[in-house]
Amino acid sequence: MTKFVCRRCNYKFEAEKPKKECPYCGEKDIVKELSAEDIVEIS
Ligand SMILES: [Zn+2]
Repeated sequence: MTKFVCRRCNYKFEAEKPKKECPYCGEKDIVKELSAEDIVEIS
């Protein structure tokens, strides 16, 4: 499962396949939510 977050309403959800739109507001600007490990690597 991959976590995604809507950049419009910040709604977070999990899905096996990438979603093209937010299930909450319908916005198509969806990005993968960085895990804690990813954030550590960047900083
Ligand atoms: Zn949304």
